[in-house]
Amino acid sequence: MVKGFTISDIHQGLKEKKFSAQELAQNYFKKINSLDEKLGAFLEIAQNEALSQAKRVDESISQGKKVSLLAGVPMAIKDNILVKDIKCTAASKILEGYQAPFEATSVKKLRKEGAVFLGKTNLDEFGMGASTENSAFKKTCNPHDPTRVPGGSSGGSAVAVAADECCCALGSDTGGSVRQPAAFCGVVGLKPTYGAVSRYGLIAFASSLDQIGPIAKTIEDAEIVFNAIKGKDPKDSTSVEVPKIKNLKGPYGVSSRAVKIENLRIGIPKEYFGEGIEPGVEKIIKETIKKVEKQGAKIEEISLPHTKYAIACYYIICTSEASANLARYDGIRYGLSKDEEGKSDLLDVYLETREEGFGPEVKRRIMLGTYALSAGYYEAYYLKAQKVRTLIKQDFEKAFQKVDVIFTPVSPFTAFKIGEKIEDPLAMYLSDVFTASVNLAGLPALSLPCSKLGKLPVGLQIIGKPFRESEIFEVGRFIEKIV
Ligand code: GLN
Repeated sequence: MVKGFTISDIHQGLKEKKFSAQELAQNYFKKINSLDEKLGAFLEIAQNEALSQAKRVDESISQGKKVSLLAGVPMAIKDNILVKDIKCTAASKILEGYQAPFEATSVKKLRKEGAVFLGKTNLDEFGMGASTENSAFKKTCNPHDPTRVPGGSSGGSAVAVAADECCCALGSDTGGSVRQPAAFCGVVGLKPTYGAVSRYGLIAFASSLDQIGPIAKTIEDAEIVFNAIKGKDPKDSTSVEVPKIKNLKGPYGVSSRAVKIENLRIGIPKEYFGEGIEPGVEKIIKETIKKVEKQGAKIEEISLPHTKYAIACYYIICTSEASANLARYDGIRYGLSKDEEGKSDLLDVYLETREEGFGPEVKRRIMLGTYALSAGYYEAYYLKAQKVRTLIKQDFEKAFQKVDVIFTPVSPFTAFKIGEKIEDPLAMYLSDVFTASVNLAGLPALSLPCSKLGKLPVGLQIIGKPFRESEIFEVGRFIEKIV
C-alpha cells in the first residue's frame, strides 16, 4: 500500500476539524522540502497560491458550507498542463520563463472543487520519453530505488504521489505516459478514452493521442479525480460528454459498487506475453490473472494480431503530429527568443531559438515527423501508419465483442537504471510496446499496482471499451482488494 492520506481521509479530517486545509498544505510543503532535493519530482512550487486556495477552503468550512470531496486536497500538476499565472515549461528550455496566461480546463474544474495545487512536476521534454530523463532541467528518481528511473513522461507526478509529496496528481498520456510511470512507482494511473477529458491547456505533443489522466494512490481516488475533470468542453472540439452507464450489460453494476466477478469475461492477448517481456513481470501478471480466475472470472485467450506494428505506427504518427505542433516555438511568441534587437534576420531567430531551445530527443522527433510527412514519403509512412492504426483499432473492436475487459502488463520490465537506455532511443521506444496501442485505438486503460519484483512495483493494465472508465474502475477496485 502507498503511504499517506487518500482523498476521503482528507475529506473526513477536514470535516472533523482534525486539521485545516492550510495546515495540510503546509505539511505537504515541509515534506517536499525534505524529500524533493533527492527525488526531483517538482519543477516549480506554488506555495503562496496553494496556501491562498487552502485558505478559501478553510473559510468555506468554518462558514459551515458543504465542501466537495476534492476541497483542500493537495495535488501536483504535470508541467505540460497550464495552471494560470504559474510558470509552465513542459521541461523544455524553449519555454523557460513562460507563464501560463490561462488555465487548462481540467485544472479549472479541479480548482472549482477546491483542490489545492502544490506545484508543477517534472517530465520528459514535451512528454517525449519513458524515463523523465529527457527533462531539460533535472533528473527524477524512483522512490523505490533512487538509482532507477520513475518511468515517463509523467515521472514527476508519479513520484510525487508515490512518495506522498501530494495526495494525487495529473499526468498526460500519449503512448503510455500516465500508466508506465504509475506502474514503475507503484501507484494507480488512468489514460481516459480519447475525448473524455478536455485537452484545452495541455501543451500539445500528438493531438490525436494525447489525454490528461489522474495518478493516485487508490482506484477510488483516481475515479474521483477523473469524474471531476471529464466531460465536454467547448474549448476542445474533440471532447465529448462521457455517457452515464446505467444498466451495464456486464455482471457488475456501477451503482452497486460491488463487483460480481463471476461471469466477467477477461481477454488475455497472446501477443502481450512471451518474447521481450521480463520473466518475473510475466509471472506476476499471470499469477494475478489466476487469482481473478479463482474468484470466478472467465479468462479467454484473445489475439490482437497487429500489435507487432504498434510501436512503428505510434512513432510515425506521434512524431508527425509533434513536428506540426512544435512549429509554433519560433522564438517570437513563447519563452526563449534568440532575437537580438536589430541584428537578427528572422530566419536566424527561428533557427537559433530552436537549436538552443530544444533537446536532442525533441529534435530527433521533429526530424522524423517532418520526414514522414514530406512529399514523396507521406504515402509510404504517414498514410500507411494511419491505415495500420485503423487495423489496430479493429483488433480491439473484435476482441471486445467477446470480452468485457482486457488484461496485459503495463510494461515489459520494471523500472530500469538511470542512464541505461538514454543513449539508445530504440530501446527506450520499446518501453511503450504494451501501452501505445491503447492510444492509437483511443481506448481507456488503467495501470494498477499488483505486486513487486524485489523492491520494484509491477503494474497490471486493464483496458476497457470506449467511455467505460467506470467499468474499469469497478474491476480495478475488485483486484485492488485481492492482490
Ligand atoms: N514513451 C512514449 C513517447 O516517448 C509515450 C510518451 C507519452 O505518453 N507522452 O512517445
